[in-house]
Amino acid sequence: MGAGDSVNVGYWTRLGDGRIECRLCPRLCKMRAGQRGLCFVRRAREDGEGMELTAYGRSTGFCVDPIEKKPLNHFLPGSSVLSFGTAGCNLACAFCQNWDISKSREVERLSAHAAPETIARAAERLGCASVAYTYNDPVIFMEYALDVAAACRTLGVKNVAVTAGFVCEEPRKRLFAGMDAANVDLKAFTERFYSKRCAGALEPVLDTLKYLVHETDVWTEITTLLIPGENDSDDEIEALTQWVARELKRDVPLHFTAFHPDYHMLETAPTPLPTLQRARSIAIKNGLHHAYVGNVRDPAREATLCGNCGARCIGRDRYEITEYRLDASGRCLACGSRMAGVFAAKPGTWGSRRLPVDIERYAA
Ligand code: SF4
Repeated sequence: MGAGDSVNVGYWTRLGDGRIECRLCPRLCKMRAGQRGLCFVRRAREDGEGMELTAYGRSTGFCVDPIEKKPLNHFLPGSSVLSFGTAGCNLACAFCQNWDISKSREVERLSAHAAPETIARAAERLGCASVAYTYNDPVIFMEYALDVAAACRTLGVKNVAVTAGFVCEEPRKRLFAGMDAANVDLKAFTERFYSKRCAGALEPVLDTLKYLVHETDVWTEITTLLIPGENDSDDEIEALTQWVARELKRDVPLHFTAFHPDYHMLETAPTPLPTLQRARSIAIKNGLHHAYVGNVRDPAREATLCGNCGARCIGRDRYEITEYRLDASGRCLACGSRMAGVFAAKPGTWGSRRLPVDIERYAA
């Protein structure tokens, strides 16, 4: 399969009226021949004989980032990750922080052509421990993401999904079988918010989180972008964090990140630091071991503490590791408890750099 092709894809059914219904994500778009779904990159074939992914091999935004930027604080800390995405998205968040990619109809046309082997080779040569499928959502370009992931695995490079988790049950299993880690956006804890602000639904996201934590070995962290007046009430944060403690595990890391006015929410103020700090305090009160603030500088609340003795095991200043007190097997130097997560014998040294990558230089 070459880079830049449209490829036939599964997860669809034909309806009685002749339309194709996509069964990849819970949106269940219904399309006549040639029509695209809401995500833009999946469409019913012109001949009406199935569906195709138009973004196969067309990717954008190649950049080497710190893994902490995904954010993942318990997955190979200090390592670098090669990030990319495609056009389109299967949610329609009014506050989208990547709307230039996710909503642009031009991105697909302007994207670089990158075969899976090219991306894996670039990651290996650039010394990246992993590749991240990010910016939009690997759910919608799953077949491409999985081919890249397979190429990465042959070179010893790991795979990270940055996703909203809005995906149906069968494709969910297939997508995450190719992943080593995931950061799932839990955008709020009410159906109302998901419906009004994202044109989506909460329940399938909760199902994805339960699946990841209880039925896979994929290392999973959660991010909630707190938007003033929208999803930042004490009641909502209480409910969200109690659910994580009760239905997932207490050592699943939770990142509360700051909103910046963007896209259709330019009138909403940025998230004040005390809001993030309050959310983190509620999470800890409810028994979560690893709650972080993000998109702000607050070293005391960006640090990783031992879930057993409370000792500071990893110090951070934004994306920079400032202190590392885990042994080579990922145990706390103070009490010997194993830290939840995936750790190398030593932390990486990538720091906070961001390196744009010309992917076509790595083509065979
Ligand atoms: S993956 Fe795309 S086409 Fe399929 S249901 Fe979701 S938004 Fe619609």
